[in-house]
Amino acid sequence: MITTYGLHKSFQQHEVLKGIDLHVAKSEIVVLLGPSGSGKSTLLRSLNGLEQITAGRIEVNGIRLDAGLPARRQAKLIRDIRRQTGMVFQQFNLYPHMTVLGNVIEGLRTVKKMKKDAAVAIGERLLDRVGLKDKMDAYPSRLSGGQQQRAGIARALAMDPQIMLFDEPTSALDPELVGEVLLVMQELAQEGMTMLIVTHEMKFARNAANRIIFMADGVIVEEAPPEQFFEAPQQERSKRFLRQLS
Ligand code: ADP
Ligand code: MG
Repeated sequence: MITTYGLHKSFQQHEVLKGIDLHVAKSEIVVLLGPSGSGKSTLLRSLNGLEQITAGRIEVNGIRLDAGLPARRQAKLIRDIRRQTGMVFQQFNLYPHMTVLGNVIEGLRTVKKMKKDAAVAIGERLLDRVGLKDKMDAYPSRLSGGQQQRAGIARALAMDPQIMLFDEPTSALDPELVGEVLLVMQELAQEGMTMLIVTHEMKFARNAANRIIFMADGVIVEEAPPEQFFEAPQQERSKRFLRQLS
């Protein structure tokens, strides 16, 4: 579903991704761990076309984007890739002037040009799925952070993505609201969604991930099934990271 080959990303002189080779299979749940500043967000943003890659290649569900391609060709491929991927950020980014339902169906109306009734039907189904059907006419400011993030997930799902990218989806939440968002993510995983998740929730990572990828300083340091990564990390850098958590 996702592959990168020799992916590099620099901001001016600062090389943030230093040759990332990543493979995520269909229905695989991969949790990306690493210290702050290691390039996790930049990697996710590159996969979704929010950052232009400096060198290397990305393939998302068969769409191949090469850093060497002309800019116009890249722009077209990025649009195609965005249609395949849903992204959920730490900040919920809901439109404050739209109801929850309005937020969820916005993309269906403006990007997919769907008729209102059809879009509303999809929106209601998705809000039901994330446990927010009773809030569909509320404005985001009336929702808790956990509810807002669940609405954000419903909004991403509305575009029917093949892949979901999560960048610290629970980091802005009060501790007691984290569980409800993780539960929605767990359900998505069980339904077979392909997911690449940056999180600091180690219990979730251990339980939900098929594989852990540990990044530091712009490179993948270690990849392993969660039991192995947490119980018997191989690399000194991984060991240090895990020691600092406990
Ligand atoms: P992480 O998500 O692992 O904490 P990031 O991908 O956010 O790491 O950042 C990795 C590095 O890239 C950091 O040093 C950060 O300052 C730098 N960086 C990220 N975005 C930009 C940007 N738009 N311009 C310049 N530097 C950036
Ligand atoms: Mg980040």
